[in-house]
Amino acid sequence: MQRIPLIAGNWKMHMTVRNALGLVDGLLNRTPDPSGVELAVCPPFVCLHAVCERLRGSSIRVGAQTMHWAESGAHTGEISPGMLTEVGCQMVILGHSERRQHNGETDQQINQKVRSALAGGLDPILCVGESLAEREAGQAQHVVSTQVNAGLKVVSADDMARVTLAYEPVWAIGTGVVATPEMAQEIHQQIRMLLADRYGDGIAGRSRILYGGSMKPDNAAGLLKQQDIDGGLIGGASLEAESFLGIAQAVR
Ligand code: PEP
Repeated sequence: MQRIPLIAGNWKMHMTVRNALGLVDGLLNRTPDPSGVELAVCPPFVCLHAVCERLRGSSIRVGAQTMHWAESGAHTGEISPGMLTEVGCQMVILGHSERRQHNGETDQQINQKVRSALAGGLDPILCVGESLAEREAGQAQHVVSTQVNAGLKVVSADDMARVTLAYEPVWAIGTGVVATPEMAQEIHQQIRMLLADRYGDGIAGRSRILYGGSMKPDNAAGLLKQQDIDGGLIGGASLEAESFLGIAQAVR
């Protein structure tokens, strides 16, 4: 089953508008032959409009890092799906472990966001992953399955074609400790089997499952050559054009 790998950068709370445009220009100047890999960047909210404008007409897609599920209302500090699509966003990261941990996002809220993103024209990247304590207690598979099932509740087979999953073990995010390719593959394969149970082999085979957690140019190839790893969600290494594109290069 041919799945075009996606390398997506999660810039987190880094970059002013000026810095963001500098990074985007660096990507545009050096972006290699776009065939064989898709690229996306997910800047902070305030950079989205400028980044979308600068990337208009290029093959690099733009996503947000979170959103509210409601279209409007008394939700101080929040951003709606329609606001994101209006500035040119095509994707949105949902359920990142930092949002789950520091902002108390629950599986139920994340599911509302996934459904609302799909209804609003945004392709979600749904993040799942276990903590170190959960892995050490032998619960990694259970935690990930629970998060996938909850996040995809009521998501139809048609809509699933627009959802990307990202397996991001919490203990690997921003720590420099990367999952071994075998460890990651084991969970990715489990996620694909779960998708097959929910949606059938065809959709499971077409769904992209990214790995995230301290992926760098020098460890990317080992991860990306695993059968069920279809790209990466990249934090730290997405903040410089050279390392981000170095990971994209590793796909080849
Ligand atoms: C992330 O935050 O999604 C991530 C994978 O971060 P890092 O690459 O820095 O571990």
